[in-house]
Formats: sequence, structure tokens, C-alpha cells
Amino acid sequence: MSLATVGVLALQGDYALHGRLLAQLGVGVRMVRRPGELAGCTALVLPGGESTTLRKLLRRSGLDHAIIEFAGKFPVLGTCAGCILLAAELDDGHGVDPLGLLDISVLRNGYGRQVDSFEAVVEGVDPSGPVAFIRAPRITRVGDGVEVWGLHGKEVVAVRCGLVSALTFHPEVTGTLAWHRDWLQGSGVRGGVA
Ligand code: GLN
Repeated sequence: MSLATVGVLALQGDYALHGRLLAQLGVGVRMVRRPGELAGCTALVLPGGESTTLRKLLRRSGLDHAIIEFAGKFPVLGTCAGCILLAAELDDGHGVDPLGLLDISVLRNGYGRQVDSFEAVVEGVDPSGPVAFIRAPRITRVGDGVEVWGLHGKEVVAVRCGLVSALTFHPEVTGTLAWHRDWLQGSGVRGGVA
């Protein structure tokens, strides 16, 4: 029996990989495409993808308001485009109006074109493993009370504050379980994850 049902926003992006990884950790997984599907979820993942498209689809489905309400009660984790959506503020603006759930500023495609994708081991969870940065955003400001959860060199690449956590990278692409496990344990979704 699963003690938790983790929703994965499944409008666009690499939601299937998150679903697979969460299943490996032994939690129940539900793909969320409509606000009503959040009922019964005890946590939610916003995957990577294309933040402009995701933002439009969130608005169209009404999931934007539903997620803001959900995040007041349950843990939410955003990765890459998901991190962009959670931010308070975007440095470039361009068409994405973030949900404002985490007091950080983010620069989309912050690593530029030449190095727009790379793998690295990020410090913050133990044992870690390689993760993928894919046209990743950069966190350019961390608000008061926001905890630095992961560092790549001196760069802040993972943060959390209360119920809301964000990674600028993709652990699910390389199959690294540690970040999702730490998130589930740290946010009390499930104590004894695999
Ligand atoms: N660059 C993308 C965006 O701005 C995010 C990329 C990703 O999620 N891998 O939405």
C-alpha cells in the first residue's frame, strides 16, 4: 500500500520520467491534467519542459489557481521549467507570468547557448549522483528565509522554503533518485521512502 500519492503535472514536458522515478521510490503517482485531479494528492511535482507553453496550459486548464491553493497545504517541487513557474520574479520577463510561490528571481536559459546542456553532480543531498542541466534557468536572487538546498560550485541550483522546493536541473533524466527522495522525506510526504 502506498502512503502517499504524488501528483505530477502532465500538461507538457518530461512528466513521464518523474512518474517513473517516483514509482521507484515506492510512492503512488497520479498524472494531473485538470484541477480536480489534485484531490487526493499529498504532494505535486512540476516537471521541466517549456515554461511559456506550460504557463499557457496552466491558465487554460485553471490549474494555475488550483496549484497556488494546493501549495498552501501540500509540498510542491518544481524542476527546471517547473522552477521558473514557481518563482516570484523572472529577470527576462518574456511572456511568462510566474506563479510567485517561491521568493527567488530566475533567469531563463541562464547558461546561454554554448553550454545549454550539461551533466554535473550537485552538492546538497547524500549520496548524490549526476543530474542534467538542460537549457536550465539560473537563480539570480534568493529571498530572505529561502534555504539553499543545492550548490553547483558557488551557484545556487536548488532552494526550498516551507512547502515549496525547486531545482534548476533534472535528476529524473539521469535517473538520480536522491533529490526526489530527500524532498519526500524532508517535506514529510513519506518517512520511509525506498
Ligand atoms: N528553457 C526552458 C524554459 O525556459 C526550461 C528548460 C527545461 O525545463 N529543461 O522553459
